[in-house]
Amino acid sequence: MSEPETDAEGTDEAVSSPTPGSNIAGASGPESGALIEEPIIQSEDVNVFYGDEQALQAIMMDIPEKQVTALIGPSGCGKSTFLRCINRMNDLITSARVEGDLRFAGKNVYDDDVDPVALRRKIGMVFQQPNPFPKSIYDNVAYGLRVQGQEVTDEIVENALRGAALWDEVKDQLGESGLELSGGQQQRLCIARAIAPDPEVVLMDEPASALDPVATSKVEDLISDLAEEYTVVIVTHNMQQAARISDKTGVFLTGGELVEFDDTQKIFENPEHQRVEDYITGKFG
Ligand code: ADP
Repeated sequence: MSEPETDAEGTDEAVSSPTPGSNIAGASGPESGALIEEPIIQSEDVNVFYGDEQALQAIMMDIPEKQVTALIGPSGCGKSTFLRCINRMNDLITSARVEGDLRFAGKNVYDDDVDPVALRRKIGMVFQQPNPFPKSIYDNVAYGLRVQGQEVTDEIVENALRGAALWDEVKDQLGESGLELSGGQQQRLCIARAIAPDPEVVLMDEPASALDPVATSKVEDLISDLAEEYTVVIVTHNMQQAARISDKTGVFLTGGELVEFDDTQKIFENPEHQRVEDYITGKFG
C-alpha cells in the first residue's frame, strides 16, 4: 500500500490544508490512509451542530467512487449525522447546522445554488427500517422516479428490481402491496426505489440491522454487487459486516471524531490508532 501524502505528525497545518485527493482522518493525532485519486465525495473540515451541541468535529474524508465505504463506531458518535450531510437530509432537522466543505463530484453540496431534491436524485438513501409505501410493488419503485419528475417505464422498474436482486421473487406480483413482502424483501424494494432514478451514490443507514440473518446476508451480497455501478456509503454498528462488505472504513469515536479512515483490511488488521484497535477488538463500545 502506498504511503499517505499527509503530515506524519498530524499537525494542524495538515488538517487545515489537505493535499487534494488526500484522505486525512480526524482533527488531531497521526494521520493514516491510502491516497484516493479521484474521490466522488470529499469532506473537508465538516462540523455539525444540533443547537449548541457539536455532533461532528472537523471531519476529513475522501470517499472513492464505485466502492463500499463503511462508517463504524459506537452509538451516538455521529455516523448517521455524517451520512445525512452527504445528501443534505440534515436540512430537514431544524436545529442542525453544517459548517465546512462537503463536495460531491467537486461541488460543495451546501452551496446556495444546489437544489437538495436534485442532489438526492444523484445521492439516494436507504434507511434502517424498511419503509415501503402502502402502494403496489411497482408503484413503490416508480415513486422514486415520479418524485424526481422522471419518466416511468416498465423497463426502468424491472431494471431497478433486478438491480436490487428482487425481480425474480416479485415479477408475478408487481400489482400487490409492497407491505405484503417479508422484511428482507421490503428492504430490497426500498433499495430498488433508491436506485430507480439511477443515482451515483447510495447512502445506507444500518440497512440490515432490522433483518434476520438470511435476509441480512442477501442484502450484504446485494451491497457488494451495487458497488459495481454505484458508490455505496453504509453506516453499520456491525463490525463483521463492515469487514465483509466494505473497501474502505471510517471509524468514528466519541465526541464526533473520525479517528481513522483507511482500507478496510488495514483498519481491521493493523490500525494506526490504539483507540481504534481497542474498539475493533471489543475493548470498548
Ligand atoms: P450515530 O449514528 O453514530 O449513532 P448520530 O449521528 O445519530 O450518531 O448522533 C450523533 C449525536 O448527535 C448524538 O449525540 C445524538 O444525540 C445527536 N443527534 C442526532 N440526531 C439529532 C437530532 N435530530 N437532534 C438533536 N441531536 C441529535
